[in-house]
Amino acid sequence: MSFEPGNGPVQITEAQIAARIQELAAQIREDHAGQTPHLICVLNGSFLFHADLCRAIRVPCTVDFLQASSYGDSDQSSGEVKLIKDLQFPIHDRHVIVVEDIVDTGLTLSYLLHYLQGRGPASLRVAALLSKPSRRTAEVAVDYLGFTIPDAFVYGYGLDRAQLDRNLPFISSQAEDA
Ligand code: 5GP
Repeated sequence: MSFEPGNGPVQITEAQIAARIQELAAQIREDHAGQTPHLICVLNGSFLFHADLCRAIRVPCTVDFLQASSYGDSDQSSGEVKLIKDLQFPIHDRHVIVVEDIVDTGLTLSYLLHYLQGRGPASLRVAALLSKPSRRTAEVAVDYLGFTIPDAFVYGYGLDRAQLDRNLPFISSQAEDA
């Protein structure tokens, strides 16, 4: 683990993350006026984004957590998603916001949205900190998007590199020849 950013194409500072979260939170506040949104954290990578977004929206909200993992080998998502941890609370008639760290192929999010839609929420929206549109194989709509990034492996601010680096306050990437 290094507390110095890498030399890859994606570098997002702590200040940039904080500023963007304030903007997303303002949009969520406006879209959910008079409602009590229910923010679902997709573990593990979203834990910091979820925590910061909840604090920034400054309206009453509830939270829950779920965890999914893809079947198949580690660097190719098969699209078959397994739920490792289910929700604790019902979402029927709730205004749900799924909070994701990154949308890559979109397969995980697509599975989760289908699963959650089946539980009858009043509305279902998505907040994602990062998106790599060039990698998409499943079309998913992201309502609140932090940053669009190129196809690079990123880590920090909740995202891991072999389980380390989740506690870096910034998002970074390493050049491939590094
Ligand atoms: P998808 O199903 O959209 O292909 O995969 C989404 C998941 O893959 C994310 O929630 C995240 O766990 C993982 N992922 C995708 N790209 C990256 C990346 O650049 N860095 C890290 N640490 N995880 C990633």
